Amino acid sequence: DSRLSESRSLFERALQVVPGGIYGHTSPAAGLPGIFPYFAESAEGCRFTDVDGNQYLDFMCGFGPIVLGHQHPEVEEAAARAKAKGNLFNVPSRGFVELAELMVQRVDFADWAVFAKNGSDVTTWALQVAREATGRKKILMLKGAYHGIDAWCAPGYGGIIEEDREHIHRFEWNKLDSLVGMLDSLRDQVAGVFVTPYHHPSFAASEMPENGFLTKVQAECNRRGIVIILDDIRTGFRLHAGGSHRRFGFEPDIACYCKAMGNGFPISSAVGRDSLKTAAAKVFLTGSYWNNADAMAAAATCLTIIERDKVPERIEAIGDRLCRGLTEAAAKHGYVLQCSGPRAAPYPFFEGDQNLRLAQSFCGKAVRKGAFFHPHHNWFLSAAHDEKSIDEAVAIATECLREMSEAGEKA
Ligand code: PMP
Repeated sequence: DSRLSESRSLFERALQVVPGGIYGHTSPAAGLPGIFPYFAESAEGCRFTDVDGNQYLDFMCGFGPIVLGHQHPEVEEAAARAKAKGNLFNVPSRGFVELAELMVQRVDFADWAVFAKNGSDVTTWALQVAREATGRKKILMLKGAYHGIDAWCAPGYGGIIEEDREHIHRFEWNKLDSLVGMLDSLRDQVAGVFVTPYHHPSFAASEMPENGFLTKVQAECNRRGIVIILDDIRTGFRLHAGGSHRRFGFEPDIACYCKAMGNGFPISSAVGRDSLKTAAAKVFLTGSYWNNADAMAAAATCLTIIERDKVPERIEAIGDRLCRGLTEAAAKHGYVLQCSGPRAAPYPFFEGDQNLRLAQSFCGKAVRKGAFFHPHHNWFLSAAHDEKSIDEAVAIATECLREMSEAGEKA
């Protein structure tokens, strides 16, 4: 397949100088080896080009950060203007205070905000705030949830010792009994409970909260003096301009954001209630690049546009068009394809496709035809996806499904 020859040759070079060549969630082993491009060259709007010059409609948006579309002019300009004055000083810039004010104004329960660079920075910091505030050790999280690369929660086992997770316990999504049982048996030892706004594991369909699950989790935490931490890194500000909890009707004590905050500029944030402000001030937080002025300006502009242009509503509508198109095309060719999760970040799956064979075949064919679909991670839509690009993607999907059906592919 000469389509990826430059990607391959760069990967060979990377293998010489980088452990594993490419690591993490974009390593070839984590996607569709030999089908996904290994390296990107450029991107604009809802499309990107790989190093071989192949163009793709982008349905992953850099795994989430690109919420307005690649190279959004207003965000780029705000960042460039801030950077022109110098980007990293011995002390934060004015934009730091302005962004904190904006976060507190935007997120209804928030009385304060802090900033860092990656999602993991703020989830791990929030864990420490919960321990500092309660004087307790135990942390509960959902089975199958991802909260970052730190030892307490990383999905891999390399370099991790039992003691790293000695005080981490996992309960089950949508099963209040599993949480309550654990809280009862751990008595007064639980500092914090991590939740996500909906369940978005990899390799499995997303699950929305049922029967007020999160409201009940909140009530249990409130009653027992446990800090409830919302990890809203995956879809924060993509589902609702005020944070995803607004869509699901509950209120955490701390929320962590990252991906959609800066439209690609590196920034993350934790926000919280007044009652946790003293504890928050005691937990050390810093970093070489924590106060970059361009990322702060990009985030302020991005968050302003998300509200001004009703971006979550737009993305949901365009995602709905995509999901309906995929489901209808599949039905026409004898497959049952459903989109789980929110329309703005759907996880499409084929009914009965236990080992993901159909998903891999479908996404593999689509990528070769220029629609970058992922077989086992939720997709991401952006404000740059318009009806034309969705219809183009649905046409590609239809062609893939026709080929699969003709070849007799079954789950
Ligand atoms: N939590 C969730 C829900 C995420 O989706 C991610 C990133 N995929 C993280 C935490 C970690 O964020 P980061 O990769 O920026 O450290």
